[in-house]
Amino acid sequence: MAEHRFLYADNAATTPLSPAALRAMEPFLTAQYGNPSSLYRLGQEARRAVEQARRDLAACLHAEPEEILFTSGGTESDNWALRAAAHRMAAQGKRRLITSSFEHPAVLHTCRALEQEGFSVTWLPVHGDGLVRPEEVESALREDTALVSIMAANNEIGTVQPVEEIGRLCRAHGVLFHTDAVQAAGNLPIDVKRWQCDLLSVSAHKFHGPKGMGLLWRRKGLELPALLTGGEQERGLRPGTENTAGIVGMAAALQDACASLPARTARLCALRDRLAEQALRLPFSRLNGSRDHRLPGTVNLSFAGTDGEQLLLLLDLQGIAVSTGSACESGSHKASHVLLALGLPEELARGSLRFSLGEDLTETDIDYMAEKLAGAVQKIRLMNPLWERIESGRIRYSVPDETF
Ligand code: PLP
Repeated sequence: MAEHRFLYADNAATTPLSPAALRAMEPFLTAQYGNPSSLYRLGQEARRAVEQARRDLAACLHAEPEEILFTSGGTESDNWALRAAAHRMAAQGKRRLITSSFEHPAVLHTCRALEQEGFSVTWLPVHGDGLVRPEEVESALREDTALVSIMAANNEIGTVQPVEEIGRLCRAHGVLFHTDAVQAAGNLPIDVKRWQCDLLSVSAHKFHGPKGMGLLWRRKGLELPALLTGGEQERGLRPGTENTAGIVGMAAALQDACASLPARTARLCALRDRLAEQALRLPFSRLNGSRDHRLPGTVNLSFAGTDGEQLLLLLDLQGIAVSTGSACESGSHKASHVLLALGLPEELARGSLRFSLGEDLTETDIDYMAEKLAGAVQKIRLMNPLWERIESGRIRYSVPDETF
């Protein structure tokens, strides 16, 4: 077989910058270097570009421009949203937070830090299908609940949560609702009004925008404590000279992603299902999380008797880039907290891979990936002294909806 090109299947970790984003950014990295706060023309041109980007981003989210606050990315937006909402509500005697056990570390660790400060956190379980149940959110609500934070789509398994229903419940009970939409933005239609959220986090590098750039959407009228102290930028809430190039690049990338969403969704779903179908022909394999409620390009698969990191390295040798889950946790050699939260035994959780596809891939690429994956799985199983016992059924793994 002819040598294959490099295949990137880790778009949930990050994406390459789109040509549109690069084109939009280039002038602000070179000739139009003005500070948006400067009063002369060079500065005012940068100001106009920042405010146009704010309007464009707001339109993509069905939001108002003044509701957009620029940040350095998803981690900052999550931290700010949770800490600001918690502290604001604590002033009203509300010190309880509700979140799920499979959030991104930016939310998980911020909730743990808030626990250390004296907030109490209810950690909702995630079911075997990788979904949070709105009725469980509702029954966890108390008089003193300040905030619910549930991600719109999970970064490791790609399951899409019922945010609209959760938003409706929170609004009805007068509780603030934050959603981490870092994986959703650019991959799902977002409508902050329909979702009835109060705070929403976005990161540009997940939808072909620049790294180190994000936004926090905050419902108009919701007063938040400032993230930093300094000048007057971002209404004095997040001061610091604006990253003009990053801001216009994020806007160009999100506009592009929203415009191409229907066609891209159809294409990615077909590629994703083609890959999953071939991978699941391997014995003792499983798809993690709901088949139906998932991001267009993301699948997470477990292969009993293997090791995700070894699989990743073997695929890398074949020019295929995938992930064992969250890039932030790779190298830690810990089983994924997301897969454990789903109820997978540790050994099976360790033998898992996430494929997050991009629209540049073809069916031929997918078939090549599936073939190389099959080879890698087989190779590792043959080296695993336990494989024979797994294959003969003497070692069995129980997961929520099956045993194998
Ligand atoms: N939230 C989710 C769901 C993510 O997938 C990520 C990135 O992996 C983040 C937050 C953090 O975003 P950033 O890399 O922009 O800090």
